[in-house]
Amino acid sequence: MDELGASRWKRVVLKLSGQAFSDASGSSIDGDIVSQLASEIIDARRNLHVDVAVVVGGGNIWRGMTGAGAGMDRAQSDYMGMLATVINALALQDALERLDQPTRVQTAIQMAQVAEPYIRRRAIRHLERGRVVILAGGLGNPFFTTDTPAALRAAEIDADAILKGTHSGIDGVYTADPRIDADATKIDELTYMDVLNRGLKVMDPTSITFCMDHQLPIVVFDVLEPGNIRRVLVGTEGIGTLVR
Ligand code: UDP
Repeated sequence: MDELGASRWKRVVLKLSGQAFSDASGSSIDGDIVSQLASEIIDARRNLHVDVAVVVGGGNIWRGMTGAGAGMDRAQSDYMGMLATVINALALQDALERLDQPTRVQTAIQMAQVAEPYIRRRAIRHLERGRVVILAGGLGNPFFTTDTPAALRAAEIDADAILKGTHSGIDGVYTADPRIDADATKIDELTYMDVLNRGLKVMDPTSITFCMDHQLPIVVFDVLEPGNIRRVLVGTEGIGTLVR
């Protein structure tokens, strides 16, 4: 890894959207990408001594709105989305453990044969013991996305920051969509109110409000650029957008 230094934060929640697990060909889970993410998480854990809890999304497999848009019952479709996050969680667990990193998956919807139920105190204990904790199943409630559990769990486990990984080659928050508008410029730092008032695509508004109330900083960055998790942790200049 090229960036030296100590992490700015001792404990973080890394929000990985499901799309980050998939490749350009559209296959839902790309093993090479998941291994790359796993090795970066391990670098943070072992070399920077950061407690890492990962909240995984499921959009590479299913999103509630996909079904709702096609006429399905929204809550039913959201439960399918929550189950999709568990599939991604198990893929990430496998990749981490193949690299000898102890992990635990905890789910908000109980499925005792494959994972522990989410228990806050137990999650904290695992982190203290150097395990990577993967939190799946969202909140366990429909009508949310995984941004809200990322924020809620971060507050619960006393995390110092949320690292929101983007996956479309966009390395932070821009004044406009840089894929469409050539004049779009990257914003280095924003307040929660800026995000809400300007309708910027950082995380769902519910989760932004929650982070504001609980003073949880968010860094939006390109998680698929190798080395970026470390760069965000050590605070390398020019990486991502900080919301606080
Ligand atoms: N979901 C939900 N409640 C939650 C978290 C997720 O109902 O607390 C459902 C919702 O349908 C969502 C899907 O799970 O679309 C997958 O999560 P998300 O869209 O956040 O995945 P990502 O975009 O991060 O891949």
